[in-house]
Order: sequence, then structure tokens, then C-alpha cells
Amino acid sequence: MITVGVNSLKDTIFVIAAEKCKSCGFCVASCPRKLFSLGTTINSHGYHVAEIKDPDSCIRCRACSTMCPESAIEIMIGEE
Ligand code: SF4
Ligand code: SF4
Repeated sequence: MITVGVNSLKDTIFVIAAEKCKSCGFCVASCPRKLFSLGTTINSHGYHVAEIKDPDSCIRCRACSTMCPESAIEIMIGEE
């Protein structure tokens, strides 16, 4: 696993299992804040791994992790 984002308060951490990502783009399409994109990192299966931009804008809806068919996205939120 690799950490792909931490918000400035450090109470929300986004982790993606890079080897699970299949570049399907569901996380990109589902995020209401348009925070996900397919990045330049390519995993061993040849897929561009999703990445998150501007973690501070996340509203913690979990749509991205819910929609990912590979369960590749984990969001750890403090004080839950
Ligand atoms: S939790 Fe919601 S707002 Fe945050 S990155 Fe995922 S889909 Fe976007
Ligand atoms: S939804 Fe999951 S498998 Fe699809 S691009 Fe996003 S992280 Fe990768």
C-alpha cells in the first residue's frame, strides 16, 4: 500500500492499494469534489494508479471508496 494523501489537519488519511487499481475511473467519476484523477504511476499490471489532489477539499463522503470495485481505496478518518 502507498499513502496518497493526508489533509492539513492530519485527521483524514487516504491510502490506495496501488496493485489493486485497474484504472476504471469510478473514483474519478464518483467524487463530488472532483478530487481524484488517474495518475502517472503505473502498477505492475500496467494500470495508471488513481491519485487524490487537494485532500483538504474532501467532504468525507466516502463515495470514492464505496464505488471502487477493487476495494483499493481506504479512508481513515480521525475522531470516528
Ligand atoms: S470521500 Fe468523497 S469527497 Fe473525499 S475524495 Fe472520496 S469521494 Fe471525494
Ligand atoms: S475506483 Fe478503484 S480501481 Fe478504479 S481507478 Fe479508482 S482506485 Fe482504481
